[in-house]
Amino acid sequence: MREAFTLHCAAQMDDVSTWLTQNGATVDYVITSAFNTLSVDAMDAMPNLKVISNFGVGYDGVDASAACERGILVTHTPDVLNVDVADTAIMLMLACYRDLVQNDAHARSAGWAESGNLPLSRSASGRRVGIVGLGRIGLEIAQKLSAFDAKISYHTRTVRDGDFTHFPNLVEMAAQADVLICIVPGGDSTHHMINADVIAALGSDGVLINVARGSVVDQSALIKALQNGTLGYAGLDVYADEPNVPQALCDLPNTILLPHVGSATIETRAAMAQLTVDNLVQHVQGKPVISPVPECLKLMV
Ligand code: NDP
Repeated sequence: MREAFTLHCAAQMDDVSTWLTQNGATVDYVITSAFNTLSVDAMDAMPNLKVISNFGVGYDGVDASAACERGILVTHTPDVLNVDVADTAIMLMLACYRDLVQNDAHARSAGWAESGNLPLSRSASGRRVGIVGLGRIGLEIAQKLSAFDAKISYHTRTVRDGDFTHFPNLVEMAAQADVLICIVPGGDSTHHMINADVIAALGSDGVLINVARGSVVDQSALIKALQNGTLGYAGLDVYADEPNVPQALCDLPNTILLPHVGSATIETRAAMAQLTVDNLVQHVQGKPVISPVPECLKLMV
């Protein structure tokens, strides 16, 4: 990138808004990620901005409609991360059912020699799994779960062709499922869609896996349900206020917690970085960007 672009790194600036006031007009391209937000005010401070290239498939930190209204293309990195994010969801599910963390701690400590085995865990195979969001990653999760003999249902706004059972009502899907796996985008339309009613319907033996966004789950309702045993387990990669993980979640024995690492492998992060840069290079060369977000497709014609 250093050869093709003059780079300015926001993380190294004392004050980003002052820098934008003085230099915003010189910026043609921005790279951002799911871990940052790019405000509409910042877009307006860069009148020559042409492309916002988002490192990640989720772009809830960028108001893509506002960008599109300003003629700015937003791109993201779909598909290249499907496999690793799906693996993360399944890893969390298996870890919940098989008490992975407790058994690991038991093997490392003197506990095994002193007091024998821990109580039996539960089988992860043959489970009824409700997938909340059957898009690129949700479908990958569903396909991988066939190896675990899962019975798949899903909740989306539109029905997909295929073998899986669609539930327009999320509470009804939760009531008949052993596991819910959330893999919808963040944003207003999915905010707290996993609420107290959905959690109650999943029940005291139920497992909630969230690899989507923290905003999708009502975190207070989740903590309460895990504390009082009305929900069995939660496997979480994402939280309401990252990077802060509530102490209450850490204190619970029935949680498996990851620090937002769904796509965080060397291979996938390299592919995401390549696509992030390739989108910009295409634009510089006067060619169509590779992976625009849906809100910006109208700018492509
Ligand atoms: P897709 O756009 O391919 O799929 C999104 C799915 O969610 C679709 O099935 C869509 O169906 C459904 N959906 C969207 N809005 C709603 C809604 N309001 N109610 C019900 N269903 C809804 O996205 P991807 O599969 O590529 O990625 C999904 C998300 O996963 C990303 O946006 C990101 O937030 C998260 N993610 C997390 C990662 C991590 O590190 N933990 C890594 C990568 C992604 P329909 O439109 O028919 O409703």
